Amino acid sequence: MKKSFVLRALLALIIVGVAAGFGVRRIYLSRPRTAARIVTAGRNQRTLIIDPGHGGTDGGAVSVTGKNESEINLDIALRCRSLAGLFGVTAEMTRESEQLDYPEDANTIREKKVWDTKTRTELINSLENAVLISIHQNKYTTASPHGSQVLYAPTAESRELGEKLQELLTQVTGESKRTAAKIGESIYLMNHIDCPAVLVECGFVSNAMEAKRLEEPEYQLKLATVIIGGYLGSMT
Ligand SMILES: [Zn+2]
Repeated sequence: MKKSFVLRALLALIIVGVAAGFGVRRIYLSRPRTAARIVTAGRNQRTLIIDPGHGGTDGGAVSVTGKNESEINLDIALRCRSLAGLFGVTAEMTRESEQLDYPEDANTIREKKVWDTKTRTELINSLENAVLISIHQNKYTTASPHGSQVLYAPTAESRELGEKLQELLTQVTGESKRTAAKIGESIYLMNHIDCPAVLVECGFVSNAMEAKRLEEPEYQLKLATVIIGGYLGSMT
């Protein structure tokens, strides 16, 4: 393992500690426990669902590198799950691979997409006390836009989580002009779930520099660290 990778990973974990610090301290003041047990208490209150956007026949946006958005989303989402696990939080995933098991009566690309979206929505709504983090990548018609954009669902607590994640991600991506925004009504899943939910557009696959970084394990780990750190600090 390269030394620079270890250093970056350690730095990322420190960010988690700082980001999660508010939540841990708040609980600690009222009821002293060990750190591990504090996080476990939080886990019992919430069910974290990580949704890697797209997948199956739907690759999402295509990066300037030629890679499908769905693959980048899955890489970052799996890193989010691993990091959450380190803090005693078992995250549910809406998919764990690029392949999806479509039903036999879903023949067209549209039928497959509709089935997938509805299946994810039903799964999310079936889990009690859930919090959803959906992972996506952005794309624009020109090359210059870059940085993360967090969109929040029209459900309770979503805006607070979205604003916290936007603030933390801004520190990583260096794009300071963007603020968290309410998701558009055309996004079915985010408008048909009951729980607090955010959709994180981690970066722009239409920006050559950012597209390259989004495929690097170190950068994916950094993004995952900030996302999970922000979640732990805000929702547990
Ligand atoms: Zn997407």
